[in-house]
Amino acid sequence: MSQSDPTTFRCWAEIDLAGLERNLKSIQSTLPKRIRYIAVVKADAYGHGMQQTVARLMQAGVDMFAVANVAEASTIREIGAGWPLIVLGATLKEEESQLFEYDLIPTISTVEELERLDVRATRENANLKAHMKIDTGMGRLGIWHEYANELFQAFRDASRVSLHGIYTHLASADDDPEFTRRQRKIFIETIARADWLPVESLLIHADNSAGISTFAPDSIYNAARIGLLQFGIRPYPESMLGNAETTPIFEFKSRVGITKTLPKGASISYGRTHILERESRIAIVCAGYGDGVPLQLSNRGEVIIHGQRCPILGRVTMDQTIVDVTEIDQTVASGDVVTIIGRQGDSEIRLEEFSEWADSISWEVLCSVTKRVPRIYRTAIQSG
Ligand SMILES: *Cc1c(COP(=O)(O)O)cnc(C)c1O
Repeated sequence: MSQSDPTTFRCWAEIDLAGLERNLKSIQSTLPKRIRYIAVVKADAYGHGMQQTVARLMQAGVDMFAVANVAEASTIREIGAGWPLIVLGATLKEEESQLFEYDLIPTISTVEELERLDVRATRENANLKAHMKIDTGMGRLGIWHEYANELFQAFRDASRVSLHGIYTHLASADDDPEFTRRQRKIFIETIARADWLPVESLLIHADNSAGISTFAPDSIYNAARIGLLQFGIRPYPESMLGNAETTPIFEFKSRVGITKTLPKGASISYGRTHILERESRIAIVCAGYGDGVPLQLSNRGEVIIHGQRCPILGRVTMDQTIVDVTEIDQTVASGDVVTIIGRQGDSEIRLEEFSEWADSISWEVLCSVTKRVPRIYRTAIQSG
């Protein structure tokens, strides 16, 4: 079992693909039937691994995929044909030809982009479907809603690029319901002003994971773009939890390198930011910021060994992290499994808690588990 045998690794991530499928089904069951599920799998499927994640989502029945750029989209095309694929980022001139080669749906935010792609499509003697993006308060991609009509007109004039969908992005869906309502209202009104649009035949979407907690059943939306939630991570405070029951599918693990006893007064790690207040048993864990344990966890985070939480002492280093195992009731030995994120026995460190220690957000933490960390996959059969 060489490739997938965790017993030979110093630091690894375990990903539960059956759990991914359960999460998907649970989210889908809370959405109105007409809602198309767009699985957002940018950035290597949020660090879970594009290949395995996308293959499983294809089998499990998502309607579309969305990625950040054409390079990510081409990877999906290699996994399986046929799924509509939206590129969420701006497409550079240098990337244009791949839109045609891989049959992708670009996001268009400006008249200039649309005209450029229309010229290109004419030259290639090809047609292109596109989604128009409207900025309703995110201040990133999308045409500012007050100018949207210019772009609607340009779509009307384009000969080779057709409008396949219209979307916007919510800036504070996780913590500002009032602003979210305002964004939704602007979005709907902007579309309504272009009353000649064949709205019924377009995909209209605004919701990310946090958005669907305020999903209005009678709205004009017929699609949602779900990233974080399908990986079982809550994008919003407990109080805003929607109906979907999802569980984390990502565990981050390492092993104890050595254990040793140090006397009271000994200093720990670079910069000597921790001085032992008692004689202590410490364990040196085989993972550091070179693997994705953020420096911010220095003197702050915890790990789980033998089902019990152990505080991190001193600075996290590139390859190693020092933890206090004095209070652990069993003997801690070299090779013992250390859970950095995930469940072990009765203890659990959720990604959300870990992200707070790191002064970060779940999305960034998942993107920060480095290439040095092999991803291993549990399938339905293995997890029983
Ligand atoms: C990343 C992204 C999403 C998914 O967001 P989650 O919060 O992870 O669900 C949706 N839409 C756009 C435009 C995005 O960039």
